[in-house]
Amino acid sequence: MKTLSPPPRLLMGPGPINCYPRVLSAMSTQLVGQYDPVMTGYMNEVMALYRQVFMTQNEQTFLIDGTSRAGIEAVLVSAIEPGDKVLVPIFGRFGHLLAEIAERCDAEVHTIEVPWGEVFLPEQIEQAIINVQPKLLAVVQGDTSTTMLQPLEHLGEICLRHDVLFYSDATASIGGNSFETDKWQLDAVSVGLQKCLGGPSGSAPVTLSERYVELVGKRRHVEAGIRSSHHSDGQSSRIRSNYFDLPMIMDYWGSERLNHHTEAASMLYCARECAINLLEEGIDSTIFRHKVAGDAMLAGVKALNLEPFGDLAHKMHNVVGVYIPDTVDGEIIRHQMLHDFNIEIGTSFGPLQGKIWRIGTMGYNARQDAVFQTLQSLESVLRRNGHKLPLGEAIDAAYDVYAKVNPLQNEDK
Ligand SMILES: *Cc1c(COP(=O)(O)O)cnc(C)c1O
Repeated sequence: MKTLSPPPRLLMGPGPINCYPRVLSAMSTQLVGQYDPVMTGYMNEVMALYRQVFMTQNEQTFLIDGTSRAGIEAVLVSAIEPGDKVLVPIFGRFGHLLAEIAERCDAEVHTIEVPWGEVFLPEQIEQAIINVQPKLLAVVQGDTSTTMLQPLEHLGEICLRHDVLFYSDATASIGGNSFETDKWQLDAVSVGLQKCLGGPSGSAPVTLSERYVELVGKRRHVEAGIRSSHHSDGQSSRIRSNYFDLPMIMDYWGSERLNHHTEAASMLYCARECAINLLEEGIDSTIFRHKVAGDAMLAGVKALNLEPFGDLAHKMHNVVGVYIPDTVDGEIIRHQMLHDFNIEIGTSFGPLQGKIWRIGTMGYNARQDAVFQTLQSLESVLRRNGHKLPLGEAIDAAYDVYAKVNPLQNEDK
């Protein structure tokens, strides 16, 4: 068989994206044993790094091995006992996912919905909390399926007032949009690496408040075979997943280092590198880079005579939806972008299937050259397929966005 040699794609969809070079190198770094002090040292570093990424003091900040939904499942299955009420505001595909996972935990799930392309007002969520009186509110921050960013900053106070646990899946948004765990009073947050953090999928950083840890601690059941006489079981029912049992995973990451799974060391290396990359560039600067790339892409697609999707005041910085013009076949355009230009842009699902493309600018690819290449190629492909557009204006529009930010760099006329 030939050596692995994937084509050099530029991944400009809603994720996954091309990894930062330092993350790629980390993946090919040699392993050490999981109780080697070097490895446990890395684990402690990862906890400290992700406290900064999540902007939290939470002691319990660590990785769940698996893709982002592993983090979601761990948070939900560890907290939800059968019959518990869970409220999920749904504004896209991933809200449905949270509801479906909570249902599998035998929660009594209540949902409220807005049309795809919109977000909720805090009052709408508070009213639903008053009606339902849930134990937990589970809400996505950025939903790539619709490109919308749900404001979270007022929800923590509402949840605290009504004694509700507050969980958010910030996979698609963290690193490219503001996210402040402690300030916004979140009890649990889970994310993944493959969006703005610029890594591969396969590791899910999570952070848990003391309130949340105390609650799931009541369900602590150390498995036979590793338990010793000082371990005692919690009062509440046993968590229905072993792999996603957060008290056991906390004991593994904590000072006891109680054996659970074998840490996915290569993914931990990646997660560590993603965090360092973000923190060295600076969280605010990285968010700003995403904002500028997103603004430039938005200006560019408008200049291609394409209509952007959804409530643009609540768009994530890192992805834009654009209506597929009636005159072209959306899949032919994507196919030609991929095969003739090595650029991947996203399709859509659910109610938006066949209606919009989704174009991402995230992580390593939130760069001027990546934005320009995508717009230039899209212009060529659209024009060749009969879509009417003013030649050259997309790049000019994107240039203007960058020139405002960095006037010197783009003024060599
Ligand atoms: C992309 C995305 C995920 C991805 O989940 P995986 O299990 O890593 O595929 C999860 N949540 C949200 C909100 C996302 O946008």
